[in-house]
Amino acid sequence: MKLLARADNFLQASIWADTLRGAGIKCELRNTALSGALGEIPFLECAPQLWLEHDKDEARAHEIMLQFRRPMAGPFWQCLSCGENSEPQFGSCWQCGATRP
Ligand SMILES: [Zn+2]
Repeated sequence: MKLLARADNFLQASIWADTLRGAGIKCELRNTALSGALGEIPFLECAPQLWLEHDKDEARAHEIMLQFRRPMAGPFWQCLSCGENSEPQFGSCWQCGATRP
């Protein structure tokens, strides 16, 4: 197992994990149930963590993660199905999964 990244929140961590799994990279989220403890332990200790199951996937995983670290490429777009706003880099709604209009 290898720690790939720390996320700001559980939603972000889930999106990362789903994307890596979609690319065939096995990974695991940790620290996803500790947010209630924020303020009592150092933030980095309780931020959601994304762990790779196989170290050999690291280079590819970092490459995939780059797409999440790029600056915003345009405005948020609104889902026609549920009305939720999604970030410009996503091709489908994070909430309901509908394809971007
Ligand atoms: Zn939606």
